[in-house]
Amino acid sequence: MSWEVVIGLEIHAQLATKSKIFSAASTAYGAEPNTQACLVDLGYPGVLPVLNKEVVHMAAMFGLAVNATVAPRSVFARKNYFYPDLPKGYQISQYELPIVEHGELFITDADGNEKRIGITRAHLEEDAGKSIHEGLDKSSGIDLNRAGTPLLEIVSEPDIRSAKEAVAYMRKIHTIVRYLGISDGNMQEGSFRCDANVSVRPQGQEAFGTRAEIKNLNSFRFVEKAINFEIERQIDLIEDGGEVVQETRLYDADKDETRSMRSKEEANDYRYFPDPDLLPVEISEAYIEAVRKELPELPDAKQQRFVAQYDVRKDDAAILTASRPVADYFEAAVAKTGAGAQLVANWVVGDLSGALNKDGLEIGDSRVSADELAGLLTRVHDNTISGKIAKQVFEAMWAGDGSADEVIEAKGLRQITDSSAIEAAVDKVIAANPGQVAEYRSGKDKLMGFFVGQVMKETRGQANPGQVNQILKAKLDG
Ligand code: ADP
Ligand code: MG
Repeated sequence: MSWEVVIGLEIHAQLATKSKIFSAASTAYGAEPNTQACLVDLGYPGVLPVLNKEVVHMAAMFGLAVNATVAPRSVFARKNYFYPDLPKGYQISQYELPIVEHGELFITDADGNEKRIGITRAHLEEDAGKSIHEGLDKSSGIDLNRAGTPLLEIVSEPDIRSAKEAVAYMRKIHTIVRYLGISDGNMQEGSFRCDANVSVRPQGQEAFGTRAEIKNLNSFRFVEKAINFEIERQIDLIEDGGEVVQETRLYDADKDETRSMRSKEEANDYRYFPDPDLLPVEISEAYIEAVRKELPELPDAKQQRFVAQYDVRKDDAAILTASRPVADYFEAAVAKTGAGAQLVANWVVGDLSGALNKDGLEIGDSRVSADELAGLLTRVHDNTISGKIAKQVFEAMWAGDGSADEVIEAKGLRQITDSSAIEAAVDKVIAANPGQVAEYRSGKDKLMGFFVGQVMKETRGQANPGQVNQILKAKLDG
């Protein structure tokens, strides 16, 4: 029997506000425990939450960016449960009337086709605190710094059909929230995490299978691995005559497996009701239109523009537009050189990205600026150096040896285009290798590569490769 996989994701994006969603306490990461929790976050009796208007602005931006409806009226609700990191005994969230509904985005599926993934809703809520066990003897601590941090929970339709599609969807959301500047998307710090709902059904069956929900996945790699493990587990279970139970599971990255955490609670277990301490959020048409005007160019539009305007390959455009700073760097470099956008794209996607990765740097901290890279590529374009020597120059620039021109001068890397100099090198190589010359002339064409290599060696890689080929061919064939 063949199985179809059904996945829906709930992504929590921490909103990049300075203060919390219902209090003035700071949201800065990494402070001493319990130094950034005020009476509201601590759940003291008698205090009142006050909505941070910036979160409404951010949610509206997100809604418009994914072609969703921004609700004219949304309502905060209390989700009641007990946990030590939740001093109020309830989380303020949105339930029946979320701020964003009926959105969509597009991913590229395994066959390279565009695929629509529906976004059911996105609602505002507060984060809980955190239990701490490490470094404590026979006890646990509670850090409430995170309590009250604003989250946007983005819920997808069950439109996703594989772990790879889930990752593509999550990456797209990640790109969008960072483009909008509404979340830093920092996954190590937990600012961007996801719960994956996974089920399987026999190919062709309409009804969904029972799903398990894997909680708190905080890297793209874990999302893919956890989902793939879960798919296998469910299929094996059913094929062995068992049944999937609806439950919450935890992914253990060390063992690469998911484990049952608790049976799934139903919505009515939470006894949701509208929070009497908060007014409904009312948003006017005019407000929505004003936010629409503020929206930056979004990733899909930027990608299409890069292909249309710069004629770069579609795959490269996708990589270049995955983050705004990378796209900006690319455009700044293209503007400074006549070398051609595709050459700039090759370098940004290739050598530059490689160097950044190796040093663990973001593009904003690149050791070679967009202007400097443009300077290097201009020298490739005007034949001062070959593409191969350019890699050597780039390495020196990366190491801090100066601009492309400075490195080329200091190391004497200027390309040799003087044909008499190249001819001299060719003559020397031909004279030194009579055996190979004879073989070549008796029809062993493949030896051309050998001769080119020898001439390059003779000229320390600096001879113009086109001229070398031409002169060699003329002399060997002549
Ligand atoms: P809850 O709030 O209890 O987690 P929801 O019904 O709001 O449940 O769904 C949460 C997520 O689960 C959504 O992303 C939805 O697309 C997904 N989902 C619902 N049913 C299934 C299913 N049978 N298989 C996989 N995902 C599902
Ligand atoms: Mg859920």
